[in-house]
Amino acid sequence: MHYFLELFVVLVLGSVAMHVSDPGVASSLESLRIDGNLSFHDVSLAARDFGNRYRLLPSAVLHPGSVSDVAATVRHVFRMGSGSKLTVAARGHGHSLQGQAQADGGIVVRMENLRGCETKVHDGEQPYVDASGGALWINVLLECLKHGLAPKSWTDYLHLTIGGTLSNAGISGQAFRHGPQISNVHQLEIVTGKGELLNCSAEENADLFYAALGGLGQFGIITRARIALEPAPKMVKWIRVLYSDFASFTEDQEMLISLKETFDYIEGFVIINRTGLLNNWRSSFNPQNPVQASEFDSDGRILFCLEMTKNFDQDNAETVNQVKLLHTTSPPMHVRIGSSPQKSSPPPPLWLQQVEALLSKLRYIPSTLFQSEVSYLEFLDRVHVSEVKLRSKGLWEVPHPWLNLLIPRTRIRDFAAQVFGKILPDSNNGPILLYPLNKSKWDNRTSAVIPDEEIFYLVAFLSSAPSSSDHDSLDRALKQNDRILDFCKQAGIRMKQYLPYYTMQEEWRAHFGDRWEDFARRKGVYDPLYILAPGQRIFQKAV
Ligand code: FAD
Repeated sequence: MHYFLELFVVLVLGSVAMHVSDPGVASSLESLRIDGNLSFHDVSLAARDFGNRYRLLPSAVLHPGSVSDVAATVRHVFRMGSGSKLTVAARGHGHSLQGQAQADGGIVVRMENLRGCETKVHDGEQPYVDASGGALWINVLLECLKHGLAPKSWTDYLHLTIGGTLSNAGISGQAFRHGPQISNVHQLEIVTGKGELLNCSAEENADLFYAALGGLGQFGIITRARIALEPAPKMVKWIRVLYSDFASFTEDQEMLISLKETFDYIEGFVIINRTGLLNNWRSSFNPQNPVQASEFDSDGRILFCLEMTKNFDQDNAETVNQVKLLHTTSPPMHVRIGSSPQKSSPPPPLWLQQVEALLSKLRYIPSTLFQSEVSYLEFLDRVHVSEVKLRSKGLWEVPHPWLNLLIPRTRIRDFAAQVFGKILPDSNNGPILLYPLNKSKWDNRTSAVIPDEEIFYLVAFLSSAPSSSDHDSLDRALKQNDRILDFCKQAGIRMKQYLPYYTMQEEWRAHFGDRWEDFARRKGVYDPLYILAPGQRIFQKAV
């Protein structure tokens, strides 16, 4: 299965670390007049990614001083024609899992170094931000917050680039309301595989616009994106509750995403065989009552944590402190900690009443209501806190055999029954996210593919395999991934991989299904020589 190939790549290709850049490539590129620079020797960083399993050395790394550097480089490679095996990969923050941003012997464009596309916020009735394709979402957010604005749709982790997440979809707990990040883009500036620099939107070059969104980098390099904004909330009430019954958990999630007045963010995760419930690398969550949290005994059960937030303004923060509801073993609706329900007490603000009303509809284990209040920035950047901790322990730059699946709603219970506790005996290697998304918020003109049902679930197995802890942990995680994929196949679950990884074109065809013809047609139009994003392994440049 795939893991043999993967081990081969790590062991064999990984050992090519001493590979010396092709002198022919260097002399051919030296003729290019560019504002930035090309590096031919210091290229090993471009052969790494977050997955930490694939190391494909490029011949050169472009540090673009301008958008025209990107266009000139791709145009140069295009003009070399099909006789050249040179390819070009845009590298965002290199947070791919299986070498998708790498280019074996090709040119890697370090998008983070792209100059000349500064982040610019436009206020107004329908605010938006123009940002570089190489900008990190965290930096775009910081700039937008200066104007009291923020993008609408997120990923859980913000140290990813705009071009990188828009090439996939960009999903998080806001997607049920706003759609994925690719549903929140007004315009793109793109360098195609022919080296043309084009603006595109729903009105102009629409085919290219939709092709590039979720397009796995196949149709062009996104040098600039115009992203929809909304007024930024100041604070977030962050709530977690636990379930032991999977059906109640998912029914409640689905009910919440179907309501008009609901939480602003809805996710969930699975906890298998854990004793320390909050011992989770993604968790920057502080229970208000740590004693109660630690006293809760999971009793070896598989638990499902529903996670949600409600935005509110700072002005209301004081009221929140006075009127602390939630929490404790009593049913949440009737408990207001720190305030006696005197007649003269001001009523809780509307948003808090909404929270109470929503919680009263849920069927979680009553003693497991945890909450926290943090700034919007702190909430959105929550995974970075864990990153810093893990880095300090040497546990960030380890292999990450992640598997992300989109499972149709009608099969999610079959999936859960087989995978949680059976194929996966525990979740100690990393979090397992599970939350619903709705198809109507996705635009089927984009290249992203999703299951053919209105509701589908993201199930993300986010494993880490530090070699220090257990030499077999990578192998075991990869085998588990294969077993999960095999089960889906045998059980006829029509799932789609998110951040897909396939090695053969037949598999890609199956992934895209009836969208394949269009995907391949667009490739022929915008990157006919198969120059771009070779690390996705969809099209092979013919020589
Ligand atoms: P890279 O890995 O550098 O590139 C990804 C692909 O896009 C490559 O094929 C590359 O060639 C191409 N590409 C990069 N830049 C451009 C560009 N400007 N134009 C065209 N193509 C380009 N995803 C979610 O949706 N939701 C999450 O909550 C989420 N959480 C994550 C948390 C962590 C800790 C990590 C590591 C990843 C997470 N991801 C999540 C996945 C993430 O969206 C993808 O890994 C994404 O590809 C990473 O972006 P990057 O900027 O590092 O891109």
